[in-house]
Amino acid sequence: MTLDYEFLAPPRIVFGWGRRRELGALAQTLGRRAFAVLGSCTLQQNGTWDQLAALLQQAGVEPIVAASISREPEVTDVDQLVAQLRERQACSSDFLLALGGGAAIDLAKAAAAVVTNRHGSSVRDFLEGVGKGLQVSEPPLPMLAMPTTGGTGTEATKNAVISLDDPPVKKSIRSPLMVPRVVLVDPELSVSVPPATTAWTGMDALTQLIESYICRFARPIPQALAIHGLQLALPMVREAVRDGTSRPAREAMAHAALLSGLALANSGLGFAHGVAAALGVFAKVPHGLACALMLPVALAVNRVVAEKPLADLARATLPVAALNDAGAADAFVDHLGTLCKDLNVPTRLSEVGVRPEQLDDLVRGSRGNSMNGNPRQLDDAELKEILEARL
Ligand SMILES: [Zn+2]
Repeated sequence: MTLDYEFLAPPRIVFGWGRRRELGALAQTLGRRAFAVLGSCTLQQNGTWDQLAALLQQAGVEPIVAASISREPEVTDVDQLVAQLRERQACSSDFLLALGGGAAIDLAKAAAAVVTNRHGSSVRDFLEGVGKGLQVSEPPLPMLAMPTTGGTGTEATKNAVISLDDPPVKKSIRSPLMVPRVVLVDPELSVSVPPATTAWTGMDALTQLIESYICRFARPIPQALAIHGLQLALPMVREAVRDGTSRPAREAMAHAALLSGLALANSGLGFAHGVAAALGVFAKVPHGLACALMLPVALAVNRVVAEKPLADLARATLPVAALNDAGAADAFVDHLGTLCKDLNVPTRLSEVGVRPEQLDDLVRGSRGNSMNGNPRQLDDAELKEILEARL
């Protein structure tokens, strides 16, 4: 690893149990109207959104619900939100407020960028590898991100992942200008997340921490953050699933997710995220579940070329001081395999609905930014063979 890097992070991160009550003061620094993108029905049904809207009003900020989304965002979702923002003449004295998981935050990030970059007519024009290759050159509308699921870390990244139908792929709109201005993480907001979602989003965060650490583009600050995140999340993920109201578990997972976002945005990812994108498109597998399913495979695939970094991770998180690199790396791979089993993560692609005739599509759909960061380079035939063995 060479000491040659940039590090990009949100300018203001506010983290703490119950700190959503500071929303009004934070919002005042961003604008006079808050266009909200809401991700979870629960947060609307249990009164959380009403409380937050009241805090905004008390601070003299007008809350406007602009969109709700309960699945991963598609091109039409972004374009519709952009049209609505333009109709309401959203400008730089307004801002986007995303409250939810990765879907809500990515939808808001993409719309905030497209609405001010009028040289494109659709978010599609800005998506890497499929659109017109347009760049986000104008500053997006300011954005305040409030993650609620303790998983994706997208509140800290410079891209938004959007699904397309034609061709069927997930691609990113990406720019350093897209990093949210304010990130407000209140782990208490995640107590209503159900156990299965907690398990999957938790595994997404763990996968992001591990893949960014062993990535071909690994860098020193992301690696330090990844180790810290794994030390927090590995001992706590089972507890967060078992008892959703556990404050230490929810705090650990929310913090690990934030660190995973900071890490991946400044290094990269790998095999599990590459294949997870394809599983999302062709088998509609939720992102966190797809990552959880692919993490043990990614570790097995990369074990031969990433023994040292995997041993480093083992030494930082497990009692393996007596073992050499090979033994420590094996212990880390085994530990993650056991964790996936304990969390009832499926082990076979057929369990999430993948059919043999989809393998070529999966191989094609796995290529992109994430797979480019994988430590072991795989050609299409190797990748197909690996996936076929897991059918
Ligand atoms: Zn992820």
